Amino acid sequence: MNTAATGFVYHDDYLKHDTGYHPESAERLVSIMRKLEEVGITEKMKRILPVKASNEQIEYVHVDGYIKKVEAMCKRGGGMLDPDTPLCKDTYEIALLSAGGVTKAVDEVMIKADNGVRNAFALIRPPGHHATSNKGMGFCIFNNIAIAAEHLKRKYDVKRILIADWDVHHGNGTQEVFFEDHSVLYFSTHQYPHYPGTGWIDEVGKGEGEGFTVNVPLPAGTDDSGYLYALRNILVPIAMDFSPEFVLVSAGFDAHVDDPLASMNVTAPGFGLFTDVIKEIAEENSKGRIVIALEGGYNLNALSESVLSVFDSLLSNGERREKKKEKTSENERVRKRVEEVKEVQRSHWTNLL
Ligand SMILES: [Zn+2]
Repeated sequence: MNTAATGFVYHDDYLKHDTGYHPESAERLVSIMRKLEEVGITEKMKRILPVKASNEQIEYVHVDGYIKKVEAMCKRGGGMLDPDTPLCKDTYEIALLSAGGVTKAVDEVMIKADNGVRNAFALIRPPGHHATSNKGMGFCIFNNIAIAAEHLKRKYDVKRILIADWDVHHGNGTQEVFFEDHSVLYFSTHQYPHYPGTGWIDEVGKGEGEGFTVNVPLPAGTDDSGYLYALRNILVPIAMDFSPEFVLVSAGFDAHVDDPLASMNVTAPGFGLFTDVIKEIAEENSKGRIVIALEGGYNLNALSESVLSVFDSLLSNGERREKKKEKTSENERVRKRVEEVKEVQRSHWTNLL
């Protein structure tokens, strides 16, 4: 009997999304799986096999014309969906398997009573958080995390879902999908200014969704303690007020100090500390239910070490590991930015001190 509390999603077919000479390569998942097997951690977890998302599930988030366009391009052998986003002949099917990996992880966590898991990390590609309802961009085809959130709403009638996005880039697609939706709280930390250019503090949602988008744009050079300061002072109080029934994470690892596509100073153990914060929120509010989906992260060594740190946190028994606070000029700027975000969000979240 498998009694593992943590699951991971992986399938060799994810390697078939061939991007050519590109930072978002199949090698990313190869290096992650090699690392996890090297340290023997996969044996402590439940392996979850993904299934392709159905057309109906993709349509929760994407318009039919866009889905058909991706399918048609792949049938013709591939091409460039946008200047950053290559498709090969298999990409359409693998993008369905990527979205389906996250929804399968959600199902496994929701059926916990039936030998499921409490939390899971979907090691998938292509990533998703830049994909909007009608456009793929920034290496993303279908918005995996947004589809999983809609799946939670529709299949399990979940009323409050938190999506925490610590990828170094702003998840413009996820923000757009839930901008007017008060059932999904979208929280993002990201380097700013940086690709894709969105995610300023005044983007807070609209209509019924006003206050349910929380952007924390951070200066280049922000390190572990700067991120933890932002998470503790903004994410934690807002999440405790919102009280999510399920926590989803868009986990990119491109804020790592060695990442070639950005200029942040996060370390691999830092991502484990971020996961500790997510666990605290989930323990308090969502019966520990967490599903993490891989987004970016382009230095292979940094990526695999960082993913391992996240699994170490998921598998740990809640012992609190704190990072010593470092006083740097960047972190002074982070503190100022956090105050600015609080100023904007205070009208929506009364417990922001
Ligand atoms: Zn990214």
